[in-house]
Amino acid sequence: MKIRWLLSAVAAFSLLAYLGIWGYSLMFDNDKAGDPLMEPSAESIPEPEPAPLPPPGMRAVPPDSEPVSDSDEDMVRRLGFELSGTTVDPGGFLVLSAYGIEAPEIITVSNPFGVKLHFYQVEDHLSALLPVKFTFDPGRYLLSVEGGGYQESFTITVRDRDFPTQELTVEQSTVDSTIHNESANTEYFSRVQPVKFEAVDRPLWSDAFLLPVDGSLTSAFGFQRIVNGVPGERHGGIDLAAETGTPVLAANSGKVLFADFVALTGNTVCIEHGLGLKSWYYHMDSLNVTEGETVGRGQQIGSVGSTGFSTGPHLHFAISVWNIYVDPQLLLNAELKV
Ligand SMILES: [Zn+2]
Repeated sequence: MKIRWLLSAVAAFSLLAYLGIWGYSLMFDNDKAGDPLMEPSAESIPEPEPAPLPPPGMRAVPPDSEPVSDSDEDMVRRLGFELSGTTVDPGGFLVLSAYGIEAPEIITVSNPFGVKLHFYQVEDHLSALLPVKFTFDPGRYLLSVEGGGYQESFTITVRDRDFPTQELTVEQSTVDSTIHNESANTEYFSRVQPVKFEAVDRPLWSDAFLLPVDGSLTSAFGFQRIVNGVPGERHGGIDLAAETGTPVLAANSGKVLFADFVALTGNTVCIEHGLGLKSWYYHMDSLNVTEGETVGRGQQIGSVGSTGFSTGPHLHFAISVWNIYVDPQLLLNAELKV
């Protein structure tokens, strides 16, 4: 009896010891190859993604830093200044963003492009549009920005871009009543020019910009114009020829800052799309909108005409960042992200 009890006790002890060791192995030997209980399935544990490299201007997380939560991780990754690119054409623009900097007022920019940058709150950061005038010389330029304890310098390459020359023959009476007319110029500069310095403090646009008229391109952006043999102004927009009365659509959503007749550019509309980004429509036959109105992308704002400095029915369509005209083509293919 005693022996049977002893054998049972030994067997029970062995079993417990075995289970104990096995349990111990469960705790510490998880990656043991060939253990069917512990082998992770391919579905349950995906291949780890390689860590993305931070874009220029962003600070990487130091490798020995404490683990952070998802929300903290965003904050750690995206601090300081970020530029959308370091190469630009004359007539192009860049987006300068600031992460982790609360107030636009504390940002100072040393900007070689001769324009003041206006930062606005966009989602979790501040953004400013930086236009490069189409008359800007190609070369390498240094832009420095600092604020909130961050400092960054960017070398920006302005490429060489060839803008062709275009000769125009315009009736002298039209020239005399528009571009060579002092009161027409005074009217434009007193009524239209101030609009270039107004802005809405948030993006109103969505999606890519539309071509406002289904017409044929008769004059491209940046052309050097020679009017009746005399070098005139460079072309700040594109000309789209279409029949009189063809609907002109808002290139994107925004607020109408100007909608009226002026002698120089005829029936004129300016739409602010936010952050100082504007679209311009000249020479229209009629207007469908009024100042202060909000318009949707694709909404009719007028019709094609030949009012102001114009040789025939067409729409002069332009895009500006503040008072600097940029190539409309840059906004037509994809949504601008700021
Ligand atoms: Zn034009």
